[in-house]
Amino acid sequence: MHKDNYDNRHKLRLYSLKPVGLNSPLSESLPSYIMRLAMAHHITVGNLVKYEIVPRLGVKYLLNPKGLWNFYDRQESYNSSSQLSNRLIGVLEELTGNKNLDQLIFNISESLGKQNVFKNKRSWCPFCLDKWKAETGIIYEPLIWNFSDIEFCKIHNFPLQRNCPSCGHEIYLLAAKSIPGFCSKCGCWLGNTENYQGVKYMTNTTWHEWAYDNIAELLTDLTELSRTDLSQSIRGFLEVLKKTYTIKDISQASDIPKVSLREWIRTNKRPSLKHLLNLSYCTNTTLREILLEKPFLNPCLEISLRKSVKRFSLNKTIVDHNLFVQKLDLALKDDFPPSIRQIAKQLSVSPDTLRRNFPEKVKDITKKRKDKKRIKKIEIQEKIRETVIQIHSEGKVPTTRGVIEALGVGYLFARKENVDAYKSTMQFLGF
Ligand SMILES: [Zn+2]
Ligand SMILES: [Zn+2]
Repeated sequence: MHKDNYDNRHKLRLYSLKPVGLNSPLSESLPSYIMRLAMAHHITVGNLVKYEIVPRLGVKYLLNPKGLWNFYDRQESYNSSSQLSNRLIGVLEELTGNKNLDQLIFNISESLGKQNVFKNKRSWCPFCLDKWKAETGIIYEPLIWNFSDIEFCKIHNFPLQRNCPSCGHEIYLLAAKSIPGFCSKCGCWLGNTENYQGVKYMTNTTWHEWAYDNIAELLTDLTELSRTDLSQSIRGFLEVLKKTYTIKDISQASDIPKVSLREWIRTNKRPSLKHLLNLSYCTNTTLREILLEKPFLNPCLEISLRKSVKRFSLNKTIVDHNLFVQKLDLALKDDFPPSIRQIAKQLSVSPDTLRRNFPEKVKDITKKRKDKKRIKKIEIQEKIRETVIQIHSEGKVPTTRGVIEALGVGYLFARKENVDAYKSTMQFLGF
């Protein structure tokens, strides 16, 4: 078959919906595009994902019965360059005929350190949503709202919101019922500005503005940035910086540990976006300059060093009370509950947040763990006694080695209480 023939027969399966604002500070995010694509076809994200996207992804584990759950479980990989997002983009380009969908994600993330570049829940400016609804009717969610370092909308000087004003929940970046601008849990319109009257406007925005402007500038230049060797740019910048300042100076100004700075200069490890923002602020050099323009390579130019600013943050860890109580209760029901540290990790908060907000439950869980540990210890001692007597009854001398072999536990007698249990039973037997 001729290629042309094939192309004609193979019409696009979905509308060729164009992403909003590509190559601009408010360029659309991948989850937002998927939501709008579903809406354009009058279907849910759930059905679009299940019937059109997942079968074409070519990822085996997504096709098993729990596959869809796995798809929605990868929230943190939607916005950066990941295996999933890259395949997703390929499939969406095939379905819609668009060629530039890689710009829906922060496609240079692979050249930077991976720590916490993106939030794994939605975050929005109600005033932007309200404005778009009134002005263009196209409601979408820009990629810039998803960056961990972006905590406010610079246009409205308003902190980005992370909890639905109606149901209080945090909202997944993408869920089967997602619609741009609406809570996927309770369906509430997130752009109703009257619901946010208790929220304070941002003050002390020095840091936030720096982060916003710098990331916005990167988003307008993703195409060029993705063609540049960013690792080399970063290393070049650090090397120039090191010629003028000591690692100690740089570390003190930027609040970045010396060991990390050395690592970035000597090895292939890359600073995270957060660290780069810090360095760029301290040297008053924008991220775009560090990565693309490299003005610091001009020997006449002197880089000045200023102290990093404190990030006054309005979004302290907001605790989803119901969810946390549910998780802690579930842990408490466990025969041997997980540690507070493990539970905290699962909920993406610090153990201290749990201790501060739920002191009683944390105490109960810790106590149950302790009790269980004690019971386990007693059980082992009991087993040692039984084994010693058993070996003795077989007419043999119950040596420690014999007990270890019988119980199959190598370090059994590293604990004093186990040695005591052994000794006392031996004495009882007359040895
Ligand atoms: Zn706004
Ligand atoms: Zn809600």
